[in-house]
Amino acid sequence: MTEQIQPVRGMNDVLPAEMAAWHAIETGARELLSGYGYQEIRVPVVERTELFKRAIGEHTDVVEKEMYTFVDQGGESLTLRPEGTAGVMRALISNGMLRGQRHKLWCAGPMFRHERPQKGRYRQFHQISVEAVGYVGPDVDIELIALCARLWRKLGLQRVRLEINSLGTAEARRAYRERLVEYLNAHHDQLDADSRRRLQGNPLRVLDSKNPEMRALIDGAPLLTEHLDPESHEHFQGVCTALEGLGIPFRVNPRLVRGLDYYSRTVFEWITDALGAQDAVCSGGRYDGLIAQLGGESTPGIGFAMGIERLVALLTQGGPCAAPSTADVYIVVSGPRASSFGLGLIERLRDELPGRRFELNLGGGNFKAQFRRADRSGAALAVIVGDDELQRGVAALKPLRRESGQSESPLSALAAAIESALAVAAAQT
Ligand code: ATP
Ligand code: MG
Repeated sequence: MTEQIQPVRGMNDVLPAEMAAWHAIETGARELLSGYGYQEIRVPVVERTELFKRAIGEHTDVVEKEMYTFVDQGGESLTLRPEGTAGVMRALISNGMLRGQRHKLWCAGPMFRHERPQKGRYRQFHQISVEAVGYVGPDVDIELIALCARLWRKLGLQRVRLEINSLGTAEARRAYRERLVEYLNAHHDQLDADSRRRLQGNPLRVLDSKNPEMRALIDGAPLLTEHLDPESHEHFQGVCTALEGLGIPFRVNPRLVRGLDYYSRTVFEWITDALGAQDAVCSGGRYDGLIAQLGGESTPGIGFAMGIERLVALLTQGGPCAAPSTADVYIVVSGPRASSFGLGLIERLRDELPGRRFELNLGGGNFKAQFRRADRSGAALAVIVGDDELQRGVAALKPLRRESGQSESPLSALAAAIESALAVAAAQT
């Protein structure tokens, strides 16, 4: 046998059986975002490498070791997007959409990071990212968090909790950075290899270490929240007070620094205790300096991204969603005349009942086999067309989800008969 071609490690197929959960999240998010005035934007999966280096920061895990970067035939260095915000900001600049204007946008699609694949951590994964550009906050910060909370309620997700922090302004962070470096240098022997590397390039990222052996050291580090500039402090108080007012529970986590460099002031993460180590399902924050850093006119912004795979895992924890039905009506045909007649009949029914899903039995088979397929399709109703029925100008209707008898309808009135049989079936479930 010819050798099989293996899938790429860390890149998954999403199979039809998992689609119901994906759709629930995607549709739920799309409806809600539209209800909050957010518009969809789609940007390329590939961008110039320089964009991500500048936006995310040279000394981040993503840029240092996780990007899928390649040189194309024209000799340009390109990268598969590791996150969504940079591309969307680039699009706002490239299309001249800033100029003092405000935008509420969302973008969905695959992201690529060369991480170590494990449960909840993949090399191709999907995000819905949401961006509000031109809003200084804190009102928009709060509205975005409320939007997330509403989405979890809508999806029936209970085991997610909110952590927030403020990173202050770039200037405030510089002062804090000095204090932190002093502290980390004083404990240099206790730092792991990763943290020593981060200490050189980007000391704040040491606080983001996932190594449990670094926990105690990190807990003893000076707090960024104690070094906030007065405006950031006030901004953060505004967020906290409003969240309390809205009844959205949260915990201030002074160690929350986030993995990408572009954040300032408010940062937040929705965490679950139901997925093991990969516990963040949605994260984001304010990025007031990002657009200017990318060469656009200085404009504040805030956004977040949710990880669809992790949300799907949460949603399907109680077992997979019920297999969705693929048809409302299954047409069983028997006899040579009926088979060819069936194709015409079903096309006519699709015209007459455009909202209904029909599945015609394809490829023959005896009655028993056809009814087995009808059952698997999840249809509520089978329509049986045999040579005998055809001769009499009728079709038989048989409800599939309850014990009740078959009825007949003249072919000329079949569409109406199907509608009323489906209505009866729906009323009984
Ligand atoms: P983590 O701390 O888990 O590495 P992150 O801080 O790198 O997450 P972001 O870059 O903020 O995550 O991306 C937002 C969301 O995307 C995360 O909260 C998570 O749900 C999801 N996500 C990030 N990386 C992956 C991945 N490799 N596989 C699956 N989902 C991911
Ligand atoms: Mg990460």
